[in-house]
Amino acid sequence: MSADSQHDYDAIIIGGGPNGLIASSYLARAGARVLLLERRIETGGGLNTDEYFGFRFNLHAVYHLMADVMPAYRDLDLSGYGLRYVTPPYGAAFLLPDNRSMLFSNDPAATAEEIRKFSNTDAIRYVDMWNSFQPMLDQYLIPLTYELPMPPLEQLELMEQDEAGQEMARISEMSFVDILDDYGFENTHVRMALLSFPAMWGLDLHEPLGFLYPLYLCRMLNAALVKGGSHRMSSAIYRSLVHAGGVVRDACPAASLIVEDGTVVGVRTAAGETFRAPLVISTLNPEQTFINLLGEEYLDEALQSAISGWEWEQRSLFGLHLGIRGDFSYKSGDNRVDDALVAFMGLSTEEDLHSHLAGVDSGELSGTDWIHVTVPTRFDSTQASDGYQTVRIESVASYSSPWNEITPTYAESCLNLLHKYADLGEIVVQRTCTPVDIEQRLTTMKQGSIKHGAYTPLQLGYFRPTELCSQIETPVPGLLVAGASVYPGGMILGGPGYLGAKVAMELLGIR
Ligand SMILES: Cc1cc2nc3c(=O)[nH]c(=O)nc-3n(C[C@H](O)[C@H](O)[C@H](O)COP(=O)(O)OP(=O)(O)OC[C@H]3O[C@@H](n4cnc5c(N)ncnc54)[C@H](O)[C@@H]3O)c2cc1C
Repeated sequence: MSADSQHDYDAIIIGGGPNGLIASSYLARAGARVLLLERRIETGGGLNTDEYFGFRFNLHAVYHLMADVMPAYRDLDLSGYGLRYVTPPYGAAFLLPDNRSMLFSNDPAATAEEIRKFSNTDAIRYVDMWNSFQPMLDQYLIPLTYELPMPPLEQLELMEQDEAGQEMARISEMSFVDILDDYGFENTHVRMALLSFPAMWGLDLHEPLGFLYPLYLCRMLNAALVKGGSHRMSSAIYRSLVHAGGVVRDACPAASLIVEDGTVVGVRTAAGETFRAPLVISTLNPEQTFINLLGEEYLDEALQSAISGWEWEQRSLFGLHLGIRGDFSYKSGDNRVDDALVAFMGLSTEEDLHSHLAGVDSGELSGTDWIHVTVPTRFDSTQASDGYQTVRIESVASYSSPWNEITPTYAESCLNLLHKYADLGEIVVQRTCTPVDIEQRLTTMKQGSIKHGAYTPLQLGYFRPTELCSQIETPVPGLLVAGASVYPGGMILGGPGYLGAKVAMELLGIR
């Protein structure tokens, strides 16, 4: 397959979020003629930072779990284009209502000492669990994030070959709660803390998603912030793309795909322009790609049923972003909690967490009793002026709540909780971001679905978004998919965009 005089570009990429940017930059740097189309006034998607009166608010992604292992960082020379990560000394702190705290870092022995304040047995269990998770990450989870997914039986055969693989296969069938039972954790405060790592991302604690636990625990405890704000990462990828000759059109939504003889041959924009290319890579969600842009008439029965059955995430996020004049510190007796990337507060026990999540799922909460808080300026003074702080409060929330009515009371409940656990200066700027706001800003995140679709066993791995498209190519010639709804999934992993570029290069016959 090659571009010729009938084609304006070798590849057109739809959507300038992290995955679209990464796919475009790899292709452009490999010599392909690339056009990236973005609906919003700027590229970045979930890598967003808005500046209000000198405060940089990261309205969407802020925790970069794969910062040091993402191939794009090295391959696209992102540090050369200005990307800098900052890694706080502690990954997470749990502040309990009785004034006790528990600090987690990427040092399992130090974390075990924190856990020992609550349970000696659980401190031992934690080190056991960490030691079994680490080889799963090194040998399987991290490398496989950047390889096309295998059919489940093939993957099982691969994992049978060593102890780490066998253990991963074993926990894959378990839920997060089952894994804690299996390792023998017994203290309710420790279990609440450990379950908060998957729960903060809206994952169902009772679904058999156990293979994700090493990623959500160990990688979160290695997570970094982007110096200057998350948008600096998208700027770095953007610069690498443009430097390699890629063309970016922002404020230029794709409106439909051009199909000739059953093959996708280009894109028509909302303004009526047409661009032709032998490959079109969509990073939008399955409904947008296959129904809105392509059209149901081009879907066979199998693809149509897979797309119509696509499930959005049940849980989204509510954000409250504060600009503060003066200082910020937690009221804990342990000063080290100020050095944690994220501090969780409001809940005490595992039962509290389950009942909080049940309340979220009911859609009937008008406030929250569980928040997690990050103070980016603690680690990166460039995110506000001297003497000012930015504070990012997040709470797992339901899209179905009546946000038009409850946003002020919900924000107030976040502030009340924060004041209970922290001393802070005067709030001079305040900005909310509800699940409805998320959907309005990023249409890819329908119903506030931050990963473009639920994480269920049937929407993960080889089945994401369906086994018909998880290899990036779709049953429709000329159309590829590479956004968060495709393996390995959402968040700033850079996986779908990397795999999208890899498959596109093979199809275009370039290295
Ligand atoms: C509140 C919030 C907090 C989050 N926190 C984190 C975090 O801390 N860490 C983390 O790893 N992840 C986080 N995420 C998730 C992460 O942001 C997403 O999973 C990730 O951005 C998905 O990347 P993507 O490139 O696939 O899609 P997106 O980032 O959704 O980008 C898709 C792009 O396509 C554009 N687009 C839409 N329609 C069209 C069209 N018709 N034509 C052209 N362009 C179009 C959109 O404007 C957008 O720029 C968070 C998300 C939210 C909302």
